[in-house]
Amino acid sequence: MSRFLNEKYRKLEAYTPGEQPRDKKYIKLNTNESPYPPSKGVLDAVNSRETADLRLYSDPECKHLRQAIAELYGVDCDNIYLANGSDDILSFSFMAFAGNGVRAAFPEISYGFYKVFAELYNLDYIKIPLKDDFSVCAEDYYGLNCFIVIANPNAPTGKTISKDEIIKILETNPDNVVLIDEAYVDFGGESVYPLIKEYKNLLVVQTFSKARSMAGARLGYAFGDKELISDLNKIRYSTNPYNINRLTLVAGEAAIKENDYYKDNCNKIIETRSFTADALKEIGFEVIDSKANFIFAKSNSVSGEELYKSLKAKGILVRHFSDEKIKDYVRITIGAREDMEVFLETVKEILEEVK
Ligand SMILES: *Cc1c(COP(=O)(O)O)cnc(C)c1O
Repeated sequence: MSRFLNEKYRKLEAYTPGEQPRDKKYIKLNTNESPYPPSKGVLDAVNSRETADLRLYSDPECKHLRQAIAELYGVDCDNIYLANGSDDILSFSFMAFAGNGVRAAFPEISYGFYKVFAELYNLDYIKIPLKDDFSVCAEDYYGLNCFIVIANPNAPTGKTISKDEIIKILETNPDNVVLIDEAYVDFGGESVYPLIKEYKNLLVVQTFSKARSMAGARLGYAFGDKELISDLNKIRYSTNPYNINRLTLVAGEAAIKENDYYKDNCNKIIETRSFTADALKEIGFEVIDSKANFIFAKSNSVSGEELYKSLKAKGILVRHFSDEKIKDYVRITIGAREDMEVFLETVKEILEEVK
């Protein structure tokens, strides 16, 4: 830290992204990326003509991509907001919808970035404990009078709350924005985006990073009432109106037009998830029922940290969190079937070694 850093950031604990090592080739099951490449249209769209056009700024209104998304989901263009990854939407939402007496609230165990944004913007916030079975207790959010952020499915557990519970949260917090982070919704959850017509306080955030195989392109989108979208745009135009680059815009548009390809991939991942969960249970793991492209699992014979380390030594990356309440678990991204077979064999080897 230099002596120049503003006092207010000195104690800030930044988010720790999952490892993206470049030292050797790992089977990467640690950051919930898709094992499948982007669809063919994406590869064609990011072509030499578009690359030559990089000399020009991108469209700050992102018109074509917003239109494509609006069409696919059956909403108005004005109900769509786009950003450089959904992390950007989360960041701007904390900035826009909390503070000045409005506290932020989110589950105690969830996406680590929520707390970082709350701290970054110096907000008052409350972390709401999960139930003993690791599910989000929706009732705890009824009438809370806070800016509420819930990942559904939640990370790193993969558990969901129901649409009816979300409706109750929306109805009992009419004066606050309720943000539902649906990064993993395509793997078996139910999106609540159709509710934006009825609930002006609902913001639904999704991403191209997981189900749409474009984590490296950085593209997120949100559904909301047009007033909420215009609030977010106010912040975007006050920071960086060109925050989505030209190549990402055309790639995103092509991906939306080939939605079926991604749906098929999601179905494959759902199948592989159930194969992996069953196989882990057979060798003594406790596996939380997941609606995401990862599973959260705990061995009955090796600690979370040890499993993470041993797997890494053998060329497989999973994610381990040192937080006391979840330190026994590892989060395993669902990769291609072949990767999961190697993963399972390797886990068996490790279990033999610790016997
Ligand atoms: C991966 C993830 C995001 C971030 O997605 P980007 O669009 O890549 O920024 C947001 N929320 C949750 C819960 C995630 O797991």
